[in-house]
Amino acid sequence: DISGTDNKGFKGHDMLAPFTAGWQSTDVDPLIIEKSEGSHVYDMQGRKYLDTLAGLWCTALGGNEPRLVDAATKQLNTLPFYHSFWNRTTKPSLDLAKELLDMFTAKKMAKAFFTNSGSEANDTQVKLVWYYNNALGRPNKKKFIARAKAYHGSTLISASLTGLPALHQNFDLPAPFVLHTDCPHYWRYHLPGETEEEFSTRLAKNLEDLILKEGPETIAAFIAEPVMGAGGVIPPPATYFDKIQLVVKKYDILFIADEVICAFGRLGTMFGSDMYNIKPDLVSLAKALSSAYMPIGAVLVSPEVSDVIHSQSNKLGTFSHGFTYSGHPVACAVALEAVKIYKERNMVERVNRISPKFQEGLKAFSDSPIIGEIRGIGLILATEFVNNKSPNDPFPPEWGVGAYFGAQCQKNGMLVRVAGDTIMMSPPFVVTPEELDELISIYGKALRETEKRVAE
Ligand code: PLP
Repeated sequence: DISGTDNKGFKGHDMLAPFTAGWQSTDVDPLIIEKSEGSHVYDMQGRKYLDTLAGLWCTALGGNEPRLVDAATKQLNTLPFYHSFWNRTTKPSLDLAKELLDMFTAKKMAKAFFTNSGSEANDTQVKLVWYYNNALGRPNKKKFIARAKAYHGSTLISASLTGLPALHQNFDLPAPFVLHTDCPHYWRYHLPGETEEEFSTRLAKNLEDLILKEGPETIAAFIAEPVMGAGGVIPPPATYFDKIQLVVKKYDILFIADEVICAFGRLGTMFGSDMYNIKPDLVSLAKALSSAYMPIGAVLVSPEVSDVIHSQSNKLGTFSHGFTYSGHPVACAVALEAVKIYKERNMVERVNRISPKFQEGLKAFSDSPIIGEIRGIGLILATEFVNNKSPNDPFPPEWGVGAYFGAQCQKNGMLVRVAGDTIMMSPPFVVTPEELDELISIYGKALRETEKRVAE
């Protein structure tokens, strides 16, 4: 994800390293990462950093899991590539599909489709939903509702679903069929005296009002991350998804769970849908699916949707969609091994065992005069810096408070995700208690430095 990063007043946190974005001029030397080991990465000078974002919320098994390397090598030596078109496919892709369909139990899923990324998974969802409604003879039911501050990817369609202005402005996005409803950030948006439950009720009502205004017969699907990631790590307020799902169901609108960050244990349940009792019709996966050792994403499709697409009465013809590398055997073999490891090593239980140290260790800093909120669940967390502890009193952007904190972390051997004055972390599931001690200690040091600088 590249969303929302500011580089105000302090250099070193550009959105993309210069060589990957030749059109983005910058005079900052990139940090060139050369090697990884467990929860750490090393730069070209041999400096070691605790990688608290697990790459980009993805290297769940850390930097050197030999079983993933072996799985890739074995597959490369057997069948480095075959496609999954015209009723041909490969064993690793079939095995992975079966495994994912078995694992996702929040709602029965019937089919899996593989992509190369989370963005492609979400683009695929849009085509599936459109095709589904065409097959049902309701070609006007085509609009999508996403949420402000959501992150769903960078392709034209997934960036449209994204609710971050930086992903829209200058690109003529969002596409006209995408609408956005409220961001469910209680701390920032609740009214005086409003409880979390009341806030959720109000947001569900706003969603319903939007649906009624547009016409329910025009709204095809609602998409949400169980916990918003790149938009600032925003866990839903109490009762939010219960209330949202009631509204969505009432108007025959499909629910797409974007589990690209939340799946495989990140929140302390195998999927984010398990944590919040979400019963999605479609699911997007990527990132930890292969622990990021190979690029791969997936879409899971419920029987209700796939039955329509595959029914005899569907006269639309083939669902003409697919990528050369859909179901790439090496990516699937690696993902299959990653998923096996999550299960064999009981990674969900491990996350639940170690996450209290992470959450409580960092939330202990909440009293800092420059921190507005520290929020998170499981192994994902954000810190938001504000003035006077108020969501409505941000620091002047030119102070670069978040960037300064990020730079202090980096100086002390730790990499964090900086987006304006929000700092995000999602360490690998294999992070050790000792590494969490290191994380908390560097965080504390960087915080004290940042408090001093703000007070100057
Ligand atoms: N969905 C979510 C929730 C994400 O966090 C991301 C990436 O950060 C994506 C989709 C897009 O995935 P990718 O970058 O693999 O295209």
